[in-house]
Amino acid sequence: MKILVINCGSSSIKYKLLDINRKEEVLAWGNLQRIGERNSLQLHFLGDKKIKTEEKIANHKQGLNQVLHIIVDKDKGILEDLSQISAVGHRVVHGGERFLEPSLIDEEVINTIRKLVPLAPLHNPPNLAGVEAARSLLPRTPQVAVFDTAFHQSLPPKAFLYGLPYEYYKKYGIRRYGFHGTSHKYVCQKAAKAMGIPLEKLKMISCHLGNGCSITAIQGGKSVDTSMGFTPLEGLVMGTRCGDLDPALVLWLIKQEGLRPAELEDVLNTKSGLLGISGLSNDVRDLQKAEEAGHGLAKLALDIFVYRIKKYIGAYSAILSGLDGLVFTGGIGENGAEIRRHICDGLEFLGIDLDEEKNKRVDSEVISKNNSSVKILVIPTDEEIMIARETQKIIQNQGDSL
Ligand code: ADP
Repeated sequence: MKILVINCGSSSIKYKLLDINRKEEVLAWGNLQRIGERNSLQLHFLGDKKIKTEEKIANHKQGLNQVLHIIVDKDKGILEDLSQISAVGHRVVHGGERFLEPSLIDEEVINTIRKLVPLAPLHNPPNLAGVEAARSLLPRTPQVAVFDTAFHQSLPPKAFLYGLPYEYYKKYGIRRYGFHGTSHKYVCQKAAKAMGIPLEKLKMISCHLGNGCSITAIQGGKSVDTSMGFTPLEGLVMGTRCGDLDPALVLWLIKQEGLRPAELEDVLNTKSGLLGISGLSNDVRDLQKAEEAGHGLAKLALDIFVYRIKKYIGAYSAILSGLDGLVFTGGIGENGAEIRRHICDGLEFLGIDLDEEKNKRVDSEVISKNNSSVKILVIPTDEEIMIARETQKIIQNQGDSL
């Protein structure tokens, strides 16, 4: 079964075509950037062929059209006919409280995703543009929406409600939604397999550390708390996002700096975090080099980043009443051995005992000492495979119910 996975941002399309039944083999993948701008750029990988184009792409539909043409191109393509694509899986960021699971897309689902735009004004509109483009270009192919928020819909009210008047929850849906759900779900399933323990019995903490960072407490395969909240701004210190703040600070800054709400939003989202503290870069690698060269604020930014993660590991160990696994994923989690070492340093009292040699090896999956009571794992995330699996499940259930 061949499944096309699509992830549309405001000016980008990322895609992967997978053969889900043949060891989840990736047949093609690519990236279209700067859609709607003058200097659009497209990269496609089909088998061992790499194709780079610079066609002007006006919108998502035109972009997806290029993808489909290349996939069935007589010389470079890897499919004979588009009917070989059994289903399209779409990443949709916000599913609100309506979507607990992935959903087969129909008019009602589209309308609900549209109604959720106020909760994710930057993400849901391009996600919808991708859905609409795919439905018009592949009208007979079933389409499935897989939501970033769905995995966290298992949070209990005590974890998802803020200490605000309850009426705001009822009126506006103000609550913790959590994000990166597809990634947390993927790595927790993989970790359970790697540890040889059934998912239902596991207590684990998953740290997704990339440009955006979030940490999730998982019990029995279900998310029970997560650091991102009503928006992806809450929680950990990230590349350019501030994470947790005293909410009174927002009001204070508006008054003190005379900032308009949109300007402050920009400060909190794009000028804070590692970049804002260091004044140098949002990239951990740049900061590590600068730290070595004696840059004090680069060191401070990294210290704050690590400290916040440690704090959450402590908090989540407490709410889980114990821990079996600690998982690192995302660009920093997968590659940042030094960051992992600093995070685990001093956590031996929780049973988290890092093996420094294994931690340095790039191919290690388990990086804890053999006698560590908590297994520490590095698991490269793969949101596209997870979306393809979820899509396959929905399509098969649909077939069964006919
Ligand atoms: P996104 O959230 O956009 O998917 P990634 O998960 O790819 O991002 O993570 C990107 C981040 O990974 C970069 O900002 C960089 O800080 C970090 N990173 C990549 N390689 C390394 C490395 N070898 N050591 C530490 N951090 C790294």
